Amino acid sequence: MSQTLAAVKGMNDLLPGEIEIWQHVEGLARELFGRFGYGEIRTPMVEDTALFVRSVGEETDIVGKEMYTFDDKGGRSLSLRPEGTAPAARAYIEHSILNQEPLTRWFYTGPMFRYERMKTGRYRQFYQVGAEAYGSKEPAQDVEVMDMVAQFLQALGLQDIALNLNSLGDEACRPAYHAKLVEYLKAHIEELCGDCHRRMETNPLRVLDCKNPKCQEVAGKGPNVLEFLCEPCKAHFDDVQRKLTALEIKYVVNPRMVRGLDYYTRTVFEFIASHPALGTASTVGGGGRYDKLVKSLGGPDVPAVGFACGLDRLVLLLKEGTRKFGASPDLFIAVADPGSQDTAFTLASKLRREGLRVDFDTRGGSLKSQMKRSDKSGARFTLVLGEQERTSGEAKLKRMADGSLIPVSLSGLAAAVREHSATEVAQRGNAT
Ligand SMILES: [Zn+2]
Ligand SMILES: [Zn+2]
Repeated sequence: MSQTLAAVKGMNDLLPGEIEIWQHVEGLARELFGRFGYGEIRTPMVEDTALFVRSVGEETDIVGKEMYTFDDKGGRSLSLRPEGTAPAARAYIEHSILNQEPLTRWFYTGPMFRYERMKTGRYRQFYQVGAEAYGSKEPAQDVEVMDMVAQFLQALGLQDIALNLNSLGDEACRPAYHAKLVEYLKAHIEELCGDCHRRMETNPLRVLDCKNPKCQEVAGKGPNVLEFLCEPCKAHFDDVQRKLTALEIKYVVNPRMVRGLDYYTRTVFEFIASHPALGTASTVGGGGRYDKLVKSLGGPDVPAVGFACGLDRLVLLLKEGTRKFGASPDLFIAVADPGSQDTAFTLASKLRREGLRVDFDTRGGSLKSQMKRSDKSGARFTLVLGEQERTSGEAKLKRMADGSLIPVSLSGLAAAVREHSATEVAQRGNAT
């Protein structure tokens, strides 16, 4: 007996009924990011494993525990992308973009892969939108990116959004902070988990985002990164805050936030939303500046800043709401007798060519079952086609909202449907 095949755990099918919400969210991102001058890129879903080891960092949970890594038939170690910034940077370098333009703004959307423990709205194939701006070291660029995320979340109808902000310093001031942090962690070593013992040696910053509650408690009382910022880093951070205030974007400074990736320098940020559908406060997007990443991957010394938002949980929020997404048919063509089936089929094709959304049951069947289907489809109008309509060329459009009948000629059907749809919308507008 054959076993029923199912989708891989943590990976979902997205079907009509739900896909309309995805299209809405992605469409909104495209439109909004376009307003900011960001162009879309699409990179492969699979990259050299080394790309993520060298950028995201070997000691991060993402690379150390969660990547889907495999050898291809040529013996190369490849990984499904766990995030979008490293592939974008790889593409930026590979296509010598800096030689073509000094300031580059890109966005992307698509699936990412991490072998994570399953929670509400967290999947192993999950979707992100993100953006990267290369070539500007100015605080205005950091704030432009944050403004874009804030506008995106607002446009999706999220009300209670908190922006958490921090600075991780740069190569001038971070070593002193690192040293102090290691000294502090060593003094509390018996309270840290086994993973953190190792992290302390390899990458002490990673102790700050350990999920172990004991480690979090220790980290929470450790040295404050902001007290170690050098003058240029401090000036940068102050200007970021000034500009956020000028745009009336509310934020809180959170010196414990480090983000789970190695490549950040200076500004890091997270947008946190409170919503019953998400459980407690939950991060819906975040990012930061990564001025050294492009160079460390063998590219030019070019500053950059970016963000990514998880789409799965944003879609979950919209699903909870009452708003309807997606378009219903303009017209359903029902057939009164089998002899009219071919004419109806041809008519449906002609109207679709003229731009209407037309539903038509290719199986034919009883008029009653077709009318049922028309009701269910949410079509605005239904037209019943029988012998009389075929010979006279005249028919009646049934407005589904109130059952009223509108006389029309079959030759002018598209125009009639458009005209009566427009008056219906206008009337509905007057009524409200
Ligand atoms: Zn730990
Ligand atoms: Zn600094």
